[in-house]
Amino acid sequence: MKQRGVTVWFTGLSGAGKTTISQAVAEALRSQGCSLEILDGDVVRQNLTKGLGFSKEDRDENIRRIGFVSHLLTRNGVIVLVSAISPYREIREEVRQRVGDFVEVYVNAPLEVCEGRDVKGLYRRARLGEIKGFTGIDDPYEPPLNPEVECRTDQEDLSQSVAKVLNTLSNLGYLSNQLVAIEN
Ligand code: ADP
Repeated sequence: MKQRGVTVWFTGLSGAGKTTISQAVAEALRSQGCSLEILDGDVVRQNLTKGLGFSKEDRDENIRRIGFVSHLLTRNGVIVLVSAISPYREIREEVRQRVGDFVEVYVNAPLEVCEGRDVKGLYRRARLGEIKGFTGIDDPYEPPLNPEVECRTDQEDLSQSVAKVLNTLSNLGYLSNQLVAIEN
């Protein structure tokens, strides 16, 4: 067995690097023949959770549905890479309990850095008041207290972040060591 099912949950501010790191991790795993799925917050909100907004209730429902699908896949041996801001600690913990095989990756860069990147132009719009309840600006982000991995994307490069995730998956027994050795 090359892999065991696991949900790898990337949480962090918009622009912190969740999508970038999860895609690079996916590429590395795919090249080794792993079976995986990506659940990206932006994509999920266009189908699975279409119609939900950004109130606390809707954000929690968004995460609960992603967690439900992650659980189904995980228990069937898939590596599930979730990238979603998921700003609230309590619902992340709820999903962790439900899924069981759950690795939390805190994708961390200071707000000023994320805002400076402004990948999608959303911070600018939030500052102009065109978007209300934007995480980090006028809505809270509750950082994980004990994430399995922390990627400081303002201090490390993408390959370092990817290596941290792969090494952790290996150390926790989700990947064979051989697989990670190739990545390093
Ligand atoms: P998120 O999915 O968290 O909203 P994105 O992955 O869409 O964030 O955007 C993160 C941006 O930060 C990208 O433009 C990416 O190239 C850049 N970036 C700079 N350094 C890093 C790093 N070490 N890891 C990930 N992304 C980085």
